[in-house]
Amino acid sequence: MTPREELLAEVAELGREFTRLGWSRRLQPLRDYYAAVAAGQERTERWSPNLVAGLRRVLGLGKAALPIGTRCPRCEVPQDGSWAGARTTMHLEDRWAMECAKCGSEWVVLERERHHAVGSSATRR
Ligand SMILES: [Zn+2]
Repeated sequence: MTPREELLAEVAELGREFTRLGWSRRLQPLRDYYAAVAAGQERTERWSPNLVAGLRRVLGLGKAALPIGTRCPRCEVPQDGSWAGARTTMHLEDRWAMECAKCGSEWVVLERERHHAVGSSATRR
């Protein structure tokens, strides 16, 4: 596959996931981007390969998919409560992508699990 074919396949898979999740308002912009890529563009005003890659990670698609959890998957739970914190890097309909302030690991918090999340101490950009 050429890089463009690969990007198109990734965009198509992302579209199927949006459909599965019922995120219909995201479908048309994604279709427009698909058409732009098919016509030879790599990026548009709103979309880029980076954004596609980021969304795919947060939605659990592909090899770089982020783990789902309520706190940093790498750091120990602090015994003394001195949680270093995490920041939100992306917020979608029902989930947040978080980045650990200590080690830089990333993970995804689903809204239905948010009340358990240590990320409630998170600071937003
Ligand atoms: Zn960490």
